[in-house]
Amino acid sequence: METTVKLGILADAAKYDASCASSGSRRSNGGRGLGNAQGVGICHSYTPDGRCVSLLKILLTNHCVYDCQYCVNRVSSDVPRARFSPAEVVKLTLDFYRRNYIEGLFLSSGIVGNPDQTMEQLAEVARSLREDHLFAGYIHLKAVAGASDEALLAAGRHADRLSANVELPTQPDLDHLAPEKTLKQTEAAMTAIKSGIATARDRVPERLRKRSLDGNPLPPRGGAPRAPRFAPAGQSTQMIVGATPTPDAEILRTADRLYRGQRLRRVYYTAYSPIPKGSHHLPTHAPPLVREHRLYQADWLLRFYGFNVDEIVRPGDNNLDLEVDPKMAWALLNRDRFPVDVNRTDREMLLRVPGFGVRTVNRLLGLRRVQRVRKADLKALRVPKRALPFVVTADDFSGTRLLDSERLRSRIVAPTRQLGLFEAAASAQTGEM
Ligand code: SF4
Repeated sequence: METTVKLGILADAAKYDASCASSGSRRSNGGRGLGNAQGVGICHSYTPDGRCVSLLKILLTNHCVYDCQYCVNRVSSDVPRARFSPAEVVKLTLDFYRRNYIEGLFLSSGIVGNPDQTMEQLAEVARSLREDHLFAGYIHLKAVAGASDEALLAAGRHADRLSANVELPTQPDLDHLAPEKTLKQTEAAMTAIKSGIATARDRVPERLRKRSLDGNPLPPRGGAPRAPRFAPAGQSTQMIVGATPTPDAEILRTADRLYRGQRLRRVYYTAYSPIPKGSHHLPTHAPPLVREHRLYQADWLLRFYGFNVDEIVRPGDNNLDLEVDPKMAWALLNRDRFPVDVNRTDREMLLRVPGFGVRTVNRLLGLRRVQRVRKADLKALRVPKRALPFVVTADDFSGTRLLDSERLRSRIVAPTRQLGLFEAAASAQTGEM
């Protein structure tokens, strides 16, 4: 099979994996203009220092011995199959890199033979790129659950990031739709990666470790690395949302456990999308995209705002409120905790004010060391109007008259519905809520 045909099949098959961030845009030139955001094969991801890089995103093969019902590559699917050898992926990556198409590689694979053999082939691509060709670009490899610790550690020595996907939030969900997979096996792979990262970090001299913002050693400027590195961009995972009736509370509990226990950098939530000739076990419709967005917002609240899962899901059905962001939903249900005085309230409670992001709270705390905070200061800090019913300043408490109003929720929901997709995405990226 020609390389271009294989590339078409294996890049298309890789698009379902969201454990590296991508634009998700569907814009096409329609055959008349220039550029095409819809094209498969290139995705975007973020390096540890915050740069956005374009990656060649492909599978080594879409042959797979597993039968995950939600996956287009499952063994019972009749899609066209293709397979690259590790040497072919190395050549493609180098060719694309030299032409300036990409800055790195995201490589995943169906399970061929067994998890160990699959992991070894993925690791061989990274090894060859690094050792045979001195490739210094970004490499993100799929970590195959069930592979041996040796195979996973070999991958981590050359990859920047590894991701073992939990796919579904609970073991009963996996039993139902992905019978060959267990959470235990996936978490064992994460544990092996976590210990590889910790071992590498311990070998880095203290003076180099201090230069890292996130606990991982940063690469030295110029020359060869001074200490062995292991997955310096950490590990991430992906969870599919809406393929089973499991509520958001369970999805967030699994994410929270993985952030704490496995020190994951990111959990990616992907709304289930119906696949061609999908199993009858699966829903016929995708969940609303806003559910995915609310999960990302809730994820920020768990990691950076001091909330726990039970506080942010609706008590009745254990799902997130889709009409308003989860922090606003909590505030509306806990109006007796408001208004708060921005000149006196502690940091923990300020972080719970709707519309106050971490950056805003830090600036407010700095400001009130030198002056009384007034309404104009909130405006200068670009605090959104939706925060006003929940706070009093040194010179104003007029917004709080709405706090006990029946109409407060409806007044907030209407503008939220009009929030553009890009604004919503930006708030999810910055975590300002
Ligand atoms: S292991 Fe499951 S999700 Fe992964 S490629 Fe195979 S069938 Fe798809």
